[in-house]
Amino acid sequence: MTHVVRSDCRRTAIVAVGALVLASAFAVGLMPAAEAGVQPLTLAAVVAPALPPVVYQIKTKDPVFFITIDDGSFKQSAAARYVTQHKIPVTVFLTKSEVGGRWSFFKAIGAFDSVQNHSMTHKALGKESTDRTYEICTTQKAYANRFGVRPWLLRPPYGDGWFSRRYAGPDIQRTAATCGIRYIVLWNIVVLKNGRVLFVKDLRFEPGDIVLLHFEGDLKSNIQRIIAMYARHGIKPAPLSKYLPAATATVPTR
Ligand SMILES: [Zn+2]
Repeated sequence: MTHVVRSDCRRTAIVAVGALVLASAFAVGLMPAAEAGVQPLTLAAVVAPALPPVVYQIKTKDPVFFITIDDGSFKQSAAARYVTQHKIPVTVFLTKSEVGGRWSFFKAIGAFDSVQNHSMTHKALGKESTDRTYEICTTQKAYANRFGVRPWLLRPPYGDGWFSRRYAGPDIQRTAATCGIRYIVLWNIVVLKNGRVLFVKDLRFEPGDIVLLHFEGDLKSNIQRIIAMYARHGIKPAPLSKYLPAATATVPTR
């Protein structure tokens, strides 16, 4: 079954799929030490680097969910104040071309989790004409300079490569791996304009949900609304970086 939903956000296109795909490859280990004076050879040197796993939802029993906000075109000061006042963990998936010099706005709204990679210009990464290295890796450098932390999570615009053009997913993973991306982060719940909720898979709120919102004029009220909805199930927002950290291997996902 396939649903296509287009929100008022000019660039949101979500195709919900029933089956979840988790792609991972971990084949790094040490060869026996070589003779004295010879550098030990690692398997990592002779096989392709591990591809970043694709995450739709975190598998956890902790009563937590994850607020992620994409793009960056509309910078609602009220949303930033609300997040700051209440210390709400928010993962910002920022598109570089939307920053408009307002780096401090995004730093503030991501202060209780992190600012991560949502490409340079929001091109569909699965298209052959897209320069993936520019879209992914140039953003890495820019954000490392601006925020002092190199992103390790990538959200492909439109979910392209998985929610559409799925054959292109491995190509996106390979490029992302070359510039330090450790996880491809998709989503399983979307908050649309005016707080309407789209369930990508199961029609329920549950621990580990990754919720997608956008930087729009109703961001503050949408954050309030989704927090209230989860609160009725005893589930609170938590930092995604705690579950998908920069420096360790993977965690169970589904
Ligand atoms: Zn986007």
